Amino acid sequence: MMIANDAVLFFAGELAELLTYPDCAGIVRYPVGRRASIKDVIEAMGVPHAEVYAIHSRGVVHDFGLLLEHGMSVALLPAGLAPEYPVDVTLPTILRPTPFDSLRFLVDENVAGLVPLLRALGFDTVHDRFWSDEEMAERAVREGRVVLSRSRALLKRTAIVYGRLIRTQVVEEQLLEVLGHFRISSMDRIFSRCLCCNEVLKPVDKKEILERLEPKTRKYFDDFMICSICDRIFWRGSHHQKLMERFARLGIMAGPEAGQSAPT
Ligand SMILES: [Zn+2]
Repeated sequence: MMIANDAVLFFAGELAELLTYPDCAGIVRYPVGRRASIKDVIEAMGVPHAEVYAIHSRGVVHDFGLLLEHGMSVALLPAGLAPEYPVDVTLPTILRPTPFDSLRFLVDENVAGLVPLLRALGFDTVHDRFWSDEEMAERAVREGRVVLSRSRALLKRTAIVYGRLIRTQVVEEQLLEVLGHFRISSMDRIFSRCLCCNEVLKPVDKKEILERLEPKTRKYFDDFMICSICDRIFWRGSHHQKLMERFARLGIMAGPEAGQSAPT
């Protein structure tokens, strides 16, 4: 029964599964007793604001500052139900009016297996196991990065604009989850970054690194890239081939190959 002081919140799609009490089929009555923004209210119920794509009430689209009132009905939509899905972080929305320049990632330690895979695909991806939640949120907003994490507490931080609560535990599934959730403008930068420190690789003359190569590498390969930060050398060796096969098994069509892999 509707109580006059209640607001009714409808959590659509996968947002309903994030509720602290998921057995309510996504419908929650909220007793309006104090001025509370929709962001604070939904996060107290377990749903990080980063997971919400649109807020509708009384035929109007709202932002996270919406204050709940008696008798109000509010629908909260995940990105997956938006007609323009997957999410394009370079386009403004009501909830995220300042778009990012490009799709860049900040990866939490709890999904760190994504880091080398995203870098191998050419995505600018930062990660440091020693960063605190506060440091990650600050860095994400300063550098315009999407935060990937399994931590709801991190994704509730106000500073975070775009984020994704990673649902799966197997790293390959996590990668597909990320690639499916965000609009990818191009997959032609594969193997253009250092897998270890995210730096964009530069071509290096074989003669300059000859003494660092194993005899077989020296004999069979002529094209090399180098990281100017960690000085690792990359080429199209067996490591490169294994990663390409791994991506192919996942149905990830990456290419043309812009660089090489196989750290020394
Ligand atoms: Zn490096």
